[in-house]
Amino acid sequence: MKISRVESLPVRIPLKPEFHMKSALGQHQVSDYVLIRITTDDGIEGAGEATVMVRWSGETVWGAHALAERVIGPAIIGDDPRDIDGALAKMNRIAAKNWFIKSAIEMALWDIVGKAEGKPVYDLLGGPVRSRDIRGRFSMGAYEVERASRRAKELVSWGFTTIKVKVGGKPADDIARVTAVREAIGPDLELVIDANCGWDADTAIHCIHALEDCRLGLVEQPTTNGDYAALARVRRETNVPVMADDICFDYVDAEELIRNDCCDVISLYPGKNGGIAVSKRIAEFAGRHGVACSIGSNLEWDVATAAMGHLIVAVENMKIETYPGDIYGPVYHETRIVLEPLKIAGPITTISDRPGLGVEVDWELAQSLRCPDC
Ligand SMILES: [Mg+2]
Repeated sequence: MKISRVESLPVRIPLKPEFHMKSALGQHQVSDYVLIRITTDDGIEGAGEATVMVRWSGETVWGAHALAERVIGPAIIGDDPRDIDGALAKMNRIAAKNWFIKSAIEMALWDIVGKAEGKPVYDLLGGPVRSRDIRGRFSMGAYEVERASRRAKELVSWGFTTIKVKVGGKPADDIARVTAVREAIGPDLELVIDANCGWDADTAIHCIHALEDCRLGLVEQPTTNGDYAALARVRRETNVPVMADDICFDYVDAEELIRNDCCDVISLYPGKNGGIAVSKRIAEFAGRHGVACSIGSNLEWDVATAAMGHLIVAVENMKIETYPGDIYGPVYHETRIVLEPLKIAGPITTISDRPGLGVEVDWELAQSLRCPDC
């Protein structure tokens, strides 16, 4: 079996107004992402999705599209799609970083291999270690107090038992918002915060201490990307478990986090890490060092959400039972891009047991949503 064609399609889907996201990284109202379609010489098709955001990884929809069409695509034509490690090594040789587009290509290869072998991707990854029904948390934007409080009550009524609140702005506003959410959801549900690198260590320590009565379950990426010492200091000087997210793209980042005792948990997902195989490798490495992992997100559609789900189902150290992750992206968007969308009911996202990723892109619909200026 050989790769015969690699196609890239930039697609635009707006978020539903009530799901507009606001964090220390800015506003997210429209998703301009890249869909990948890889075809083999025996007619099997695989799909991938690159959820590129310039403020997050530095990748843009234009750059990702060009890289897929002009650099990576031509380089892998004729290769055996089953050699996923070989494809990752080749992509890393010809292009630095660009994790999301590499992940989209890799995801499409897993889809092809699964379809060729008649197995869901979680079986290719070693078989299921947990249910295909995945309980997630809801990630709430950094809204002003009244809206945050109203949204928190809605989320409880939808069945969410873990609520994440975006912080990382002005400490007084962040503290007021998180306090209001704790009041709104009552004492029993889990409340976690995510600063997306928005604080320095002093501010993070101040805010976490000020929020002691809110009984935070987790503080996600309180400090700047690349500053391992700051993250380690927050962990030493507070009692809330620290999750590393924005600082951990590649395997070497995870090595540094663990070497420097920076965190209790690492947030992973295939897009950010440059592939399902890389996320799995990081999760297993972290597990050997007693560090749990969970799933993160940057608002995926169904294809990349499916890839996340297969990782969770197959990898023991994706500890979503203790640290529920973000696996809810398709619901934020106006349109679902696949023929049979993943089942997402309240906080539960269910991964298909069909071969490959278990979702089929509606290419006709996708074409009609082609990003107008890409
Ligand atoms: Mg995060």
